[in-house]
Order: sequence, then structure tokens, then C-alpha cells
Amino acid sequence: MALERTLAILKPDCVRKQLIGEVLRRMEAAGFRICALHMQHLSRARAEGFYAVHRDRPFFGSLVEFMISGPCVPLVLEKENAVEDFRTVIGATDPAEAAPGTIRAAHADNKGENIVHGSDSPANARTEIAYFFGDLSAD
Ligand code: ATP
Ligand code: MG
Repeated sequence: MALERTLAILKPDCVRKQLIGEVLRRMEAAGFRICALHMQHLSRARAEGFYAVHRDRPFFGSLVEFMISGPCVPLVLEKENAVEDFRTVIGATDPAEAAPGTIRAAHADNKGENIVHGSDSPANARTEIAYFFGDLSAD
């Protein structure tokens, strides 16, 4: 199977809870190579753009407020089958439904503040990597 890249974001709750090291450790322990990483405080426009697919959902406003509530850490991860495997490592959106041993089960407080983002398809991974890291989206 070919190497694949996915986009992760350590969300503002992860940074506030001083879990950057812990979550990066879990990523590396699960076999992901960290290709790029850049802490940044998203503007409202950048957060709205990133989650534009959700703009008509009732939770969009609170999602954007949360994502701009402090710095976050977008990063690019590489591994065979990276997109699907990273979704398995992070667990379900709602930590109450996330499998034991996943990052969200271990560290997330609720569905809105769930520690980490992971791209949900190879196509979206390319778009999301380009959104934060430009050329690194190339296969
Ligand atoms: P992410 O895209 O952040 O990795 P996800 O793919 O598991 O999360 P999505 O359906 O893409 O989930 O929703 C994006 C984010 O919006 C979720 O991570 C969560 O923080 C928030 N969210 C989704 N559904 C709800 C909801 N019903 N109530 C509150 N927040 C929600
Ligand atoms: Mg998603």
C-alpha cells in the first residue's frame, strides 16, 4: 500500500490542557511520521473557511468560536492508509462514543471540544493539507 498523508489539528483544548506532547507521542507510537507542524491562532475567517462544509449546521457558530479560542497546531501526518488509520486512532466525534484507547476517549471533554481533528477522506486530506501547508498536499 502506498504512503498517504492526512491533516490533523491539535485543537485549542489540546493546547490549553498541555497535551501537545502526549497527543504527538500517540501519533508517533501509532506509526505516523510528522511531516510538518505549525502552531497558529486561527482568525475567524480561517476557521470558517476550514469548516465551511458545516456552515449550515446548528453547531457551526460554537465550532468556530471554539477553534478561535486559542492557538491550535495543524500538522501533516504520513503513513500507509493514513487517513483511515488516523480516524481510528482519534475515535468517534463524541468522546462518549469513542472506542477505549482512542485519543478522544482518553482526553476529550465533549463532542464540541474533542482535542483533535483528522481528515475524513483522501480527497479532503489533500484539500486540508493545502489549506494549511500548500505544496505538501502533493502525493
Ligand atoms: P473533525 O472534523 O474536527 O475531525 P469529525 O470529523 O469527527 O471532527 P465532523 O462531523 O466533521 O466531526 O464535525 C466537525 C466538528 O464539529 C466536530 O469535531 C465537533 O467538534 C463539532 N460537532 C460536530 N457535530 C456536533 C454536534 N452535534 N454538536 C456540537 N458540535 C459538533
Ligand atoms: Mg470532520
